[in-house]
Amino acid sequence: MAGSQASGLGETSAGRRRAAFTLVSLLACGCVAAAESATGLVVTFLGTTSALISDGETTLMTDGYFSRVAIGKTPESWVIRPDVPAIDAALKSLTPGPVAAVFVVHSHFDHAMDAPVVAERTGALLVGSASTANVGRGLGLPEKQLRVVSPGEQLQFGKFTVHFYRSKHYPLGEPLATAMLGNTIDTPLVPPVRFDAYKEGTTFSILFEHPSGNLLLHGSAGYLPGALAGVKADAVLLGTGGLGDLPRAEQEAYYREVVLATGAKQLFPVHWDVMSTPYSAPLVPDSDFQRAMGFLAEMNAAHGVQLALLPKGEPVLLELDGRSPGAMPVSPHQP
Ligand SMILES: [Zn+2]
Repeated sequence: MAGSQASGLGETSAGRRRAAFTLVSLLACGCVAAAESATGLVVTFLGTTSALISDGETTLMTDGYFSRVAIGKTPESWVIRPDVPAIDAALKSLTPGPVAAVFVVHSHFDHAMDAPVVAERTGALLVGSASTANVGRGLGLPEKQLRVVSPGEQLQFGKFTVHFYRSKHYPLGEPLATAMLGNTIDTPLVPPVRFDAYKEGTTFSILFEHPSGNLLLHGSAGYLPGALAGVKADAVLLGTGGLGDLPRAEQEAYYREVVLATGAKQLFPVHWDVMSTPYSAPLVPDSDFQRAMGFLAEMNAAHGVQLALLPKGEPVLLELDGRSPGAMPVSPHQP
């Protein structure tokens, strides 16, 4: 990606500065040698389950959640809306250029609330369940920018074939489970609204199939037995929110149904951060982080799977058939 950008920017001094900056960025993350062979996808992790995924020609985004609202004990804090200045600041820092599509893994606020704003700002198609489409409509996104998908469907964006599989949400406790699981958003959702107005809709596992390798996004630490049978992934962005709090048997079943079932040899945790810290601040590990990472480290060692955390906001070339320079080894003390 960066190489083609640099070669096209040589005519002006501004272009040369940008090209030089790009090269410095690549040198800083150790990606130069890997970029020349271009055997992978460039992934920029954005906290929670949000990421930019690019092959240098086509840029895709997942969720695009930047508001990171703080929901506290007071009822006033339960009423939420997209933090548009925060979204704009994040997009300005990322400069993703045109984004072909934003994929929403399910319709809870920490996945779906900001996605229509991101779609509006970047020209992306908003892709998700019928509930996600109603989040888009509530924010005035035109119908031509909405694409409702069902499990089993696939869509083409450039060299990406994007597959949607039905999945299952993490087992929330009560009263959240009753309010936010197994239900849908059936009319346009106009914020501000209570956080639990963002119903689950369909929870997806999304496979980004690409000639340079297959990347699976599995955003929530739940599973449907057999749902990913026959799906081949080289790497998985694995939702670990709450994983450390599950009984051991459930943790093992989750790992078996997602990581082992797809044959993924690289595992990058997502949704491991406290989701109420501002996007502009460093990510903070959630309360179960150490337990979740300890479990994954043990399982990965047994099954020959690489485990690393992706740095927030920095493009990393994932070499899907080998090591991924720029990714950081997991350290519970300095994630
Ligand atoms: Zn959720």
